Amino acid sequence: MRRKENQQPRETLHNAFDLDLEALIAELGRLDEKPFRARQVWRGMYRQLAADFREIHNLPRSLPALLSAHFTLQPLRPIVTEASADRLTRKVLFALPDGATIEAVLMFYEKRCTLCVSTQAGCAMGCPFCATGLGGFVRDLTPGEIVAQVLYFARWLRRSQWDGIQPTPMPRPTRVTNIVFMGMGEPFANYDAVWAAIRRLTDKAGFNLGARRMTVSTVGLVPGILRMAVEPLQVNLAISLHAPNDSLRDRLVPINRRYPLAELIAAVRQYIATTNRRVTFEYAMMRTINDSLLLAEELAVLLRGMLAHVNLIPLNPVAGSPYQPSSMKQVRAFTAVLRRHGVSTTVRLRRGIEIGAGCGQLKRQHALQFNVQQKEV
Ligand code: SF4
Repeated sequence: MRRKENQQPRETLHNAFDLDLEALIAELGRLDEKPFRARQVWRGMYRQLAADFREIHNLPRSLPALLSAHFTLQPLRPIVTEASADRLTRKVLFALPDGATIEAVLMFYEKRCTLCVSTQAGCAMGCPFCATGLGGFVRDLTPGEIVAQVLYFARWLRRSQWDGIQPTPMPRPTRVTNIVFMGMGEPFANYDAVWAAIRRLTDKAGFNLGARRMTVSTVGLVPGILRMAVEPLQVNLAISLHAPNDSLRDRLVPINRRYPLAELIAAVRQYIATTNRRVTFEYAMMRTINDSLLLAEELAVLLRGMLAHVNLIPLNPVAGSPYQPSSMKQVRAFTAVLRRHGVSTTVRLRRGIEIGAGCGQLKRQHALQFNVQQKEV
């Protein structure tokens, strides 16, 4: 199917994904349309993955034009796309209508196709090893801007299928099977928008992705963890830990000064007690910074007896940064210590290093290019 461009400049149009179903029903009510029409449009947006209202089946002739006069289904403008040499990682830098930029990364695995999305443009948490942290905070994303990242990739995957293009060298899932809220930004610093996005994406009449296929990753905002513990949707929780004691964590994750480890671990224990769900601790392995075997012992003691899993990830290095990845030999030795203490541990392979797949890296690499392109946005 050929897609026509909206005639109006995108900047003047509202992001349709910012509407929940109730708001969409109200909008169509203003156009004298019945609620069933809104449900039809909703299915068109989230099931049919329409990129234009004119693609949605069975709408009255005048309705797509009316909707297109106010709303867009393409609120994000892809400005840089990069794929890794093995084509298993694909990253897109998007421009938002106000010129802010965000990144999303699609990663193909044997049985999963995981999309990592941004929840804020930039980040205020200031982790010194992270490209996004180094770039500072711009603004929160709206629910629709979070959802639109998912829809962009869902459409891309489907279009590849339609065009008979195999996106990967070997057969891989052809739809987004998992979403991690782990891109630019701290999800709990934009809690309401993130959960509004999750509700849209799990809606059974719409995109219908299972909550258990989603993971929210926080750097340790305790109020967010406690709030998530009582959410009805069974979304997974991951904690970016990176250090097993306060003196090191204060340096690597500055928000630790506000929510120190004792408070963070108590909140995680409360979360587990309430939900009975396992929590993942992410630990970016940085050479000589946080990868000693003594620290591995300390980490094992910290997590002892907890329903938890540790993901060790050799750091995706930022150009010019003193923080560098640990050697694989050190990662293996660190893993062995944790396992000896009975801590469930895996090593996560780094993806797309050559395309700057780490959070905020593509934006950083393309800052110069973007400054030129921004004038056109
Ligand atoms: S690691 Fe996460 S929380 Fe820390 S600065 Fe980067 S995006 Fe923000």
